[in-house]
Amino acid sequence: MSFESLGLAEPILKAIAEAGYTSPTPIQKQAIPAVLNGGDLLAGAQTGTGKTAGFTLPLLHQLAASAPPRAPNTKRPVRALILTPTRELAAQVEESVRTYGKYLPLKSMVMFGGVGMNPQIDALRRGVDILVATPGRLLDHHQQGTVDLSQIEYFVLDEADRMLDMGFIHDIKRVLAIVPAKKQSLLFSATFSDDIKALAQRLLNQPKVIEVARRNATADTIAQKIHPVDRDKKKELLTHLIQSQNWHQVLVFTRMKHGANRLVEYLVKQGVTAMAIHGNKSQSARTRALADFKSGALQVLVATDIAARGIDIDQLPHVVNFELPNVPEDYVHRIGRTGRAGAEGEAVSLVCIDEEGFLADIEKLIKRQIPREVVAGFEPDPHAKPEPIQLGRRMLIGAPGAGKGKGPTGGGGAPRHANQGRPRQGGGHAAPRKPGSGNGRPGGGGQGRPPSNRGKN
Ligand code: AMP
Repeated sequence: MSFESLGLAEPILKAIAEAGYTSPTPIQKQAIPAVLNGGDLLAGAQTGTGKTAGFTLPLLHQLAASAPPRAPNTKRPVRALILTPTRELAAQVEESVRTYGKYLPLKSMVMFGGVGMNPQIDALRRGVDILVATPGRLLDHHQQGTVDLSQIEYFVLDEADRMLDMGFIHDIKRVLAIVPAKKQSLLFSATFSDDIKALAQRLLNQPKVIEVARRNATADTIAQKIHPVDRDKKKELLTHLIQSQNWHQVLVFTRMKHGANRLVEYLVKQGVTAMAIHGNKSQSARTRALADFKSGALQVLVATDIAARGIDIDQLPHVVNFELPNVPEDYVHRIGRTGRAGAEGEAVSLVCIDEEGFLADIEKLIKRQIPREVVAGFEPDPHAKPEPIQLGRRMLIGAPGAGKGKGPTGGGGAPRHANQGRPRQGGGHAAPRKPGSGNGRPGGGGQGRPPSNRGKN
């Protein structure tokens, strides 16, 4: 199947050809006709499947085909609203809109917190057709009367599952109360949990449901490997792997932001160029780190799960789990950064005795055992005792002395399994506090995420 046969307008086909795409991905084959048909859509697709073009291309087509007549000197109304959970994802989606819409007379804009309001207000005044936003800042603008959402015809919730994980449900409901009831709505989510189904029921009208194969089941181009190692030897082992095998463009995951910072300090001392990307960094620092990493100037990028979400870097040769995630699905998201578009990739996990329970959960999810390979000189101490893992200032997982599977891990009454140990809201990596409790939406800075997440990723 070709993009031409999907019936997209010529200026869009030209932009697609320039992007180097020859045929639509499976999600695009299903989503593009569904959106062009005019109905609502519930799509199950993860990052890396081409989902962004799956909704962007038909939206551009529809918007261009049905541009309402405008009197001279009147502002163009916002007709399409795309909500994303993170700033990075918002920026990338809007970049895609620009790329695919470069030959169309449509204007797009990205809007997120952590940067000044005034340039956004100016851009809105000049007129925007397609607005890509994180929920917090969008609501700030609405409150100030600087954005008009009354003409929305198309509404997209991207990575809806992640939005719910980050505690955005109240913000989403507020946005839904503002936009017109009559609109075409698309909901994209990597998973279809009960919460997502409930949201879909509220938002969507007789949606077409499409789902593409989950990457966890199909990521055969990704070579996965476990290096068992003692917890205090991980930094050394990582440096050894990077230096002995001359790795470049290594994306390294840690669970918490201070762990990311400490690791970067260590790597830099060892002569490895590294930077951390997480929610405590300014937007410009994050953008710079990402650009340097993409260009190859930066050897290692250390990220937490939430910060890494939506980072669009193709065909990364190496993804390293310096620490395993406590949420098994995050493992799949992480290693999805490598081996994209059929390219070979390697995902290496440094696993200490404390993490055996996380590993068991991950292997259960992906339905395969990941090969173990002890690196010479880094043999784990067979007498080592597991220690609890800190997942937030107030949250410990696991306790010494309890066992599961091969290695003793934290059981001991403390929640260890992802679903038990993970706070439902607050980012999954934060102490279990209720975002926005009391006065509804967390007010203030509009960072694009509720305060319980601030500084947590
Ligand atoms: P996404 O799942 O939207 O994050 O897209 C993942 C990557 O696939 C992006 O870098 C896109 O540029 C790329 N991509 C999207 N559609 C296609 C296509 N039809 N052919 C090749 N690459 C694509």
